[in-house]
Amino acid sequence: MTTSSTTPVAQDWHDTFGHVMMGSLATPQLMLDHGRGAYVWDVDGNEYLDFLGGIAVNSLGHAHPVLLEAITSQAAKLVHISNYFASRPEVELAQRLLRITGAGESGRVFFGNSGAEANEAAFKLARLNNANGRTRILALKNSFHGRTMGSMALTGKPHMREPFEPMPPGVEHIDSTLEALEAAVDDRVAALFVEPIKGEAGVIDLPAGYLAAAREVTARHGALLIVDEIQTGVGRTGEWFGYQLAGILPDAVTVAKGMAGGVPIGALVTFGAASELFARGQHGSTFGGNPLATAVAGAVLGEIERADLLDNARLRGEQLRGILTGIGSPLVREVRGTGLLIGIGLSEPVADELSAVALRHGLIINAPNDSTIRLAPPLIVGDEEVAEFGRRFRAALAELTAQHATSIPTETQGAVS
Ligand SMILES: *Cc1c(COP(=O)(O)O)cnc(C)c1O
Repeated sequence: MTTSSTTPVAQDWHDTFGHVMMGSLATPQLMLDHGRGAYVWDVDGNEYLDFLGGIAVNSLGHAHPVLLEAITSQAAKLVHISNYFASRPEVELAQRLLRITGAGESGRVFFGNSGAEANEAAFKLARLNNANGRTRILALKNSFHGRTMGSMALTGKPHMREPFEPMPPGVEHIDSTLEALEAAVDDRVAALFVEPIKGEAGVIDLPAGYLAAAREVTARHGALLIVDEIQTGVGRTGEWFGYQLAGILPDAVTVAKGMAGGVPIGALVTFGAASELFARGQHGSTFGGNPLATAVAGAVLGEIERADLLDNARLRGEQLRGILTGIGSPLVREVRGTGLLIGIGLSEPVADELSAVALRHGLIINAPNDSTIRLAPPLIVGDEEVAEFGRRFRAALAELTAQHATSIPTETQGAVS
């Protein structure tokens, strides 16, 4: 082969990808080159409306001036210094997180570099809540908390865990019902982990009143309530965090995806007494809290606040729900989620096909399971992007429906509720 660093990517990059990347990754359909706002372009110059946003990561969309300015100005000062030194962006971001989470003065922040790392820190926090033989950790069936050993042990999808067993012990997965919650929590439970909306499972909402009940029962038994806001947090639901919609405060919250608009970062924020559990030297991270990631996160959170993107997430979420229910397609069975985290429940297991057809219509969406399409667009989307989504999604649905005209049984052809 005669490749050099200046050779453009070959037409056969799909083959190359499969040869150089670990087999754990599926070969992507597109190779992307650049983006602007809610749009991206592939290496062949085709334009796509990005309504997945790097899976709820690109809060400000692509190439946002605030993101660029924060990256370049901080990179010109300090990128990394290790935890032997403090930086202003790190401390200021911690202050900001304590404010927007509601943890306040008695809260504390730990920085890592990903969602999984935030949940690993939370898992260790749970282990430290161990007085009088508290060894049980509860998590929900079908939940997703990450791919590292601890976060995977918390994940309620057996097929993800099984090849890597044995898991770190102590985790039990319970049904997502108020009855199962009440039955499972006792004085031997160290912590309950819960996502306000199960994003990876297919944007599955919790039963009404679940978080309030979880707050009450965990407090009664001295267990920590740890809310995984890695997908739902940072304004996506129209509040800073999903638990705020339920009007509760947890003992700890994990944050990552949208926090720095695409620059890797994760955080564990503790509330009240949970802030006293970690002792000096019990946890750390070489890259965690580095000035680059924390400066960018500070700028992204500042822009979300300045531009009122929580309101925008609410408003655009409502508009998208209106469009989806208005389509009146027999394929669209229900619309789940809150704000700009939306799950479109399909009446047939054709989600992969639909997302492939949508891609051909210039629309990036994804299929977290067979019968769900997930939308997690940038929080900056406006009238133009919402309308364009409507046009492209409608076109994709029409094409797929035409292909499947004979295979959709009539009894499932109910309009969306
Ligand atoms: C994405 C996600 C994680 C894992 O985050 P990574 O950054 O991929 O490690 C954990 N929990 C939830 C709810 C997520 O959506």
